Amino acid sequence: MNAPECDAAAYERFSHPWLPVCRERGDHFCVPRAARVCGFFDSVLVHTKGKFARKPFVLADWQRNEIVGPMMGHVVWSPEQGRFVRQYRMGWLELGRKNGKSELLAGLALYLLAFDGEEGAQVYGAARDRDQARLIWDVASRMVQLSPKLNQREGLRIRSHERRIVDGRTGSIYTILARDALGNLGLDPSAMLFDEVIAQPDGRLWEAMRTAMGSRVEPIMVAATTAGNDPSSFAAAEHAQCVKVADEPEREPHRFVYIRNMPIDADPFDEANWPFPNPALGDFLNVQALRDEATEARNDPAKENSFRQFRGNQWVSQATRWLNMNLYRECTGDLWLTGEWSKLLNGRDVWCGLDLSAKMDLTSFCVFAPPQGTDPGHCAWWHWLPEEVLPALDTVTSHRASQWVRQGFLRLMPGGVIDYAELCKQIAEVVAPYKVREICYDKWSGEYVRQELEKLLGRRVPLVPNEPTYVGMTVPMRELMALTVEHAWNHHGNPVAMFCFDSVEVKRAVDNPDLLKPVKPERSPNATRIDAVVTAALAVGAWRIRGQVQKSKRAYGF
Ligand SMILES: [Zn+2]
Repeated sequence: MNAPECDAAAYERFSHPWLPVCRERGDHFCVPRAARVCGFFDSVLVHTKGKFARKPFVLADWQRNEIVGPMMGHVVWSPEQGRFVRQYRMGWLELGRKNGKSELLAGLALYLLAFDGEEGAQVYGAARDRDQARLIWDVASRMVQLSPKLNQREGLRIRSHERRIVDGRTGSIYTILARDALGNLGLDPSAMLFDEVIAQPDGRLWEAMRTAMGSRVEPIMVAATTAGNDPSSFAAAEHAQCVKVADEPEREPHRFVYIRNMPIDADPFDEANWPFPNPALGDFLNVQALRDEATEARNDPAKENSFRQFRGNQWVSQATRWLNMNLYRECTGDLWLTGEWSKLLNGRDVWCGLDLSAKMDLTSFCVFAPPQGTDPGHCAWWHWLPEEVLPALDTVTSHRASQWVRQGFLRLMPGGVIDYAELCKQIAEVVAPYKVREICYDKWSGEYVRQELEKLLGRRVPLVPNEPTYVGMTVPMRELMALTVEHAWNHHGNPVAMFCFDSVEVKRAVDNPDLLKPVKPERSPNATRIDAVVTAALAVGAWRIRGQVQKSKRAYGF
């Protein structure tokens, strides 16, 4: 077959005179094309942040030779188009956090907007939601503002209020996309940039965009992400496919894959294993940041998990054990086995947490007296269970549950469900000896209990709802952990609480290691309870969030 020659002249309008001429035949790595894209970064784009701001965006070797060059430079002959087109219509870039993914995507967006030879280009950025998609768009628009060459390019305009960058010369736009754009038939994308694709709840947006790109000459979709933690997610399936393609590119010749996962059996704390998932290490990624995180993660299973995921770029399981039980035991203090102890706390300011049960769970009420001087904080719990559920709990606790009932740590309610009116009455009795500063309760527990407690306790006791979500639970869990690490509270050996703390796991938000919430272990959802942890966290969190503020106000005489 007499294959046509690669004709760099087709790009003359967009090319620079210094680019070499390519006369290759057949599928090949087109040097002028690759040089053109890389040259765009080096000589047109600038950095936007920190000490490199306004300096040329010179690609690091690994960015140039392993990502941008090959992804954008490989071409194949297209008989339909009668010209060479990019081989890769999809790029999957998977590497650790803070390795410059955002700036790379922003740069690609601008190239694909106005310099790719596509008339009427439509470039879209997508992420979990519009706000997250804006992060890349903001970097790109800042690049346009700071780059002298882009700034002076006639026809290139930023329309901030519409989140659009428009190129008048080619009639092109770059804007961001929300998931509700699904089914928007007007879209005719030429390029799609997915940030943190692990945050996509499903593959619908991905598929919709992929199929919508059919009409373009050389469309491309680029996803940049860190490893995820949900093996059943859309991103995990895509990742698995990409791993196969990396091993055997002929499976999907149009898919470009750059995956840098630390091997799952590698020691995540061995610094020799860090550069592979973090190619920017020693370049623009500072090793000290990783060392600090590694130090914290060594003794904390949940943090180790997120270190593996976000820094090691390893696919991990979603939930991990939250607390090292040795640490918990060190917070025991004296054992409170009879009711006498409660006198110790009489008259003290206390903060309370309440978590109402579904039918099978424990209903938990925690009273927390904050630390005073050298005296650590104290937690005391009351737990309730519908009588009919006791045998099930006995089964999974080797009959310790019945023992807890006899010891007074667990109260039974007649029948199969909790009687909320009776519960509220008992809570009012429990808190009578204390100065209750607040009762923080699970928002989804319902309005009835709030009203009932307000009736019994009066309006002087604030009842504050808390959402059992990542956003609602992160601070309370973090504060309880901080107190535990500092040995600044005692649980006095409450056996029901011990059972809960021993089982609790945490899940981290899929795209943000800083957000977490307590969960039951998935392997045995019915065998374990975590309610005492939730109420302790609510009580401690309430004190730390709202108690400390009031205290400092008082100190200033407000
Ligand atoms: Zn060529």
